[in-house]
Amino acid sequence: DVRHGPILYMEDVSVSFDGFKAINNLNLTIDDGELRCIIGPNGAGKTTMMDIITGKTRPDTGSVWFGSRHNLLTMNEPDIATLGIGRKFQKPTVFEALTVFENLELAMATDKRIFPTLTATMKPEYRERIEEVLEMIGLKDLRNAPAGILSHGQKQWLEIGMLLMQKPRLLLVDEPVAGMTEQEMERTAELLTSLAGKQSVVVVEHDMGFVRSIARKVTVLHQGSVLAEGSMDQVSNDPEVVKVYLGE
Ligand code: ADP
Repeated sequence: DVRHGPILYMEDVSVSFDGFKAINNLNLTIDDGELRCIIGPNGAGKTTMMDIITGKTRPDTGSVWFGSRHNLLTMNEPDIATLGIGRKFQKPTVFEALTVFENLELAMATDKRIFPTLTATMKPEYRERIEEVLEMIGLKDLRNAPAGILSHGQKQWLEIGMLLMQKPRLLLVDEPVAGMTEQEMERTAELLTSLAGKQSVVVVEHDMGFVRSIARKVTVLHQGSVLAEGSMDQVSNDPEVVKVYLGE
C-alpha cells in the first residue's frame, strides 16, 4: 500500500519545568511506516518528547500533529491512545499470572472489566489477530505458559505484542533492549524492523550497536532540541554529536 506524508509532525515545540526548558524549539517529523531511533545523553529530553506525543505532558508552545488531521494538542491522553499511538515503557508490565494468550486477549479488550467473560465470547477476528501477533513476537509455542515464567526478553516481546493487538499506527518504544542478552537483542531487532512499513516505530535507545543495527535514520536530541539527524554513520561522525557524547 502507498504511504505518504508524515505520521507525526512536531514544530517549534517547547516546554519548561520551573523555568528550565526541557524541550526547546523541537522540530521532528516521522514518516508513515518509518522506523526512527532517538538518541541523546541523559536529560536530553527524550522522555519528555514521548510524554508530549502521548498527551501526558502539554507543551507551552508549538504544534504536534498526528497525520494531517489530528491536532494532538487539542486531545487528552486516552483519546490520543485511541487514535492508534501505543507506548511501551522500559519495564515490562505483563500480567504474570495470566498466560501469554490471555495477556494478548486482555490487550484486545477495550473495556478491561469484561475480561473474565471474554474467552467465551471472543470474536473470530480477535483470535486471528492473536495468532498473527503470537507469530510476530515468536511466542507461539509459549501461548499457554504463564507470563511469569518468561525470560526478560520474552516479556518485552509479549508487551510489544499487547500493543500490536490494536494495530497501532505509531508505536513508541522506550529502551527495548536494556537488560537483554545478545540473542534477545537480535530477535528484538528483527521484530522492530519487521513492524516498520506496517506501522511507524519510534525507538529511544542507549545501546548504539543496537541502534546501528535497526535504524536507517537517527535523531540526536540535546538540550531539548535536535542536534543532528541522519544515518548512524552521519550522526556518529558529526563533530557536535561527538562533543556532546564525550562530554557526558
Ligand atoms: P531524557 O529522557 O533524555 O533523559 P528527560 O526528558 O527525562 O530526558 O528530561 C529532560 C530534562 O527535563 C531533565 O533535565 C529533567 O530533569 C527535566 N524534567 C523532566 N521532567 C520533569 C518534571 N516533571 N519536572 C521537572 N523537571 C523535569
